[in-house]
Amino acid sequence: MATVPKKSRAAVLVDYNHPAEIQEIDILDPEPGAIIAQVEASTVCGTDVHIFHGKMSEHSGLTLFSRVPLVMGHEIVGRIVELGTGRTKDAADQSLEEGDRIVWAYPWCGKCYYCTIALQPTLCPNVRMYGWGSVREKPYLTGGFAEYVYVKPECHVVKVPDGVDSKVAASATCAFRTVIHNFERFGGLGIQDNVVILGCGPVGLYALALSVVCGAGQVIMVGTPKRRLDLARKWGASHVIDIEEIKDPGERKEMIRKLTDGRGPDVVIECAGPSQAFVQGLDILRSGGRYLVIGQTDPSPISIQARHINLEMKEIVGAVSAAVRHFYKAMQFLKNCRDRFNFMEMLTNTYSLEQVNEALKSMEELKEIKPVILPNQ
Ligand SMILES: [Zn+2]
Ligand SMILES: [Zn+2]
Repeated sequence: MATVPKKSRAAVLVDYNHPAEIQEIDILDPEPGAIIAQVEASTVCGTDVHIFHGKMSEHSGLTLFSRVPLVMGHEIVGRIVELGTGRTKDAADQSLEEGDRIVWAYPWCGKCYYCTIALQPTLCPNVRMYGWGSVREKPYLTGGFAEYVYVKPECHVVKVPDGVDSKVAASATCAFRTVIHNFERFGGLGIQDNVVILGCGPVGLYALALSVVCGAGQVIMVGTPKRRLDLARKWGASHVIDIEEIKDPGERKEMIRKLTDGRGPDVVIECAGPSQAFVQGLDILRSGGRYLVIGQTDPSPISIQARHINLEMKEIVGAVSAAVRHFYKAMQFLKNCRDRFNFMEMLTNTYSLEQVNEALKSMEELKEIKPVILPNQ
């Protein structure tokens, strides 16, 4: 058995808007079914930046909110160093052993109305999300910006397939599994659907990769900065529109209409974030088209004409987070499509645990697509 230390170094956010500081946190012995994993890689999500600024705190109006002091990081690949008794297989029935690399879904309670009757566990009110919870509460280590992490017995895990880089796998554990959940709820794409994707961050880029593989006709990517749009082109975007160059939403709509036979796209996928992007997406969509909303976190109220939904038959769907089957599909996609897309191109710099604050800043300033934290290097 690998020797597991008693303490783990972790970058702790003691208070919002203050730099995270390195602290030593206790590593508990795993209870039955739990797993102690050494963090192979954690990637930084846009949500980490929001958490840093307190936008996900108890004052945000969210039902589930962040609580300081906390260890951020919810896009994690861990290597098993200790298995609690009874944990022998992953969710896909593959045997689990020390040394295996894993990803895991949040610990839904499995007992509430959403978990059992509605079968919508990502709405479970009793969940404790990784990267959000107080480091003062057991099992303490529930964030990826640390050397070690405690995987709770309620977390369904899947192994990372051989040949998939840990950094790439980490980057898929929030953005991509959410995209897969959204596509599932949306019902997928029709072959040759013309698609517009708003937002070219990791969520938008993964939505692009999936759209291309699902047989979309044209995929038009709208976003900024140029570096991300260049990657979108490489990954199969038929056209890109830089919102820094074409600032007028009316002009962008006209460009898209011309590219889609004057009707507008069959499908719009919103991966941008600001509520105004939602309004613009609804406006661009053709009558009878379908609208997939993935990126909205903006609390600002907006005004729309609800008659779009019946008189123009526009359909609107979205989904939050993901269940373990979406993690599994994400991992399989990364393995099966690794020759089609160089996922490593989305990952920019790597950072040590001491450099977490730098990585967050770089993410916030859009200097990078996906910074990677390597806590054990
Ligand atoms: Zn539940
Ligand atoms: Zn995230």
